[in-house]
Amino acid sequence: MEKRRVKAIVLAAGRGKRMETETPKQYLELAGHEVLYYSLRAFEESSVDEVILVTGEEEADWCRKRFMEEYGFSKVKKVIPGGAERYDSVYAGLLAAAPCDYVLIHDGARPLVTPKIIESVLEGAVSHGSCTTGMPVKDTIKVAGENDMAVDTPERSSLWAIHTPQGFSYPLILEAHERFRQGDYRIPVTDDTMLAEIFLRKKAKLVRGSYKNIKVTTPEDLPVAELYLKGV
Ligand code: C5P
Repeated sequence: MEKRRVKAIVLAAGRGKRMETETPKQYLELAGHEVLYYSLRAFEESSVDEVILVTGEEEADWCRKRFMEEYGFSKVKKVIPGGAERYDSVYAGLLAAAPCDYVLIHDGARPLVTPKIIESVLEGAVSHGSCTTGMPVKDTIKVAGENDMAVDTPERSSLWAIHTPQGFSYPLILEAHERFRQGDYRIPVTDDTMLAEIFLRKKAKLVRGSYKNIKVTTPEDLPVAELYLKGV
């Protein structure tokens, strides 16, 4: 049997306005390295064959030098420019990932991903076609209506917070993105499993990751991520 080809797209092309810093959040310093370093290290230590790093156009040369030459991440084979929205960056990554059998998509702003989480998402992708990591929510979640008035309280036991990586059969997620791009762009797309749900009616397998797998988004996330990285 031929070996399956698995590639990972690591996204780092966002500007990160909620961090309120000049430097995009994925390049901020965290426990001695850039935020992005930790995701690339986790993929380097995983069974994924190849990593495609998607960055802002201006950062691509610097990233090649930093992560491929200085850190020597041998699985990072391509550094390519992303697009205006996250889904544009994912699509650029998908085109650059061909040919492959399975693809994992990860936000470079989640430095606490581990090889173990990566393997469980890959396993879910292989058995279900679409898979994401996440964790059941701890808080009660309300749906806000006009003037911040709560209009609904979904049952907490059925709610998960969704993280990355997410894993897919490559042809499936490529088709979901292409259908989305052919139609109108008005759906607010916040992850990739939702495109497979909407356009291909493909349900995602949910696998438990870790409450520590936070996305560094606002200033208060940095010290928390630093504590987790130091193993506190
Ligand atoms: O903005 P948000 O936190 O949802 O971004 C999630 C991830 O997607 C980040 O790693 C960010 O760098 C990436 N992204 C991207 N291209 C964009 C927007 C976001 O690669 N246009």
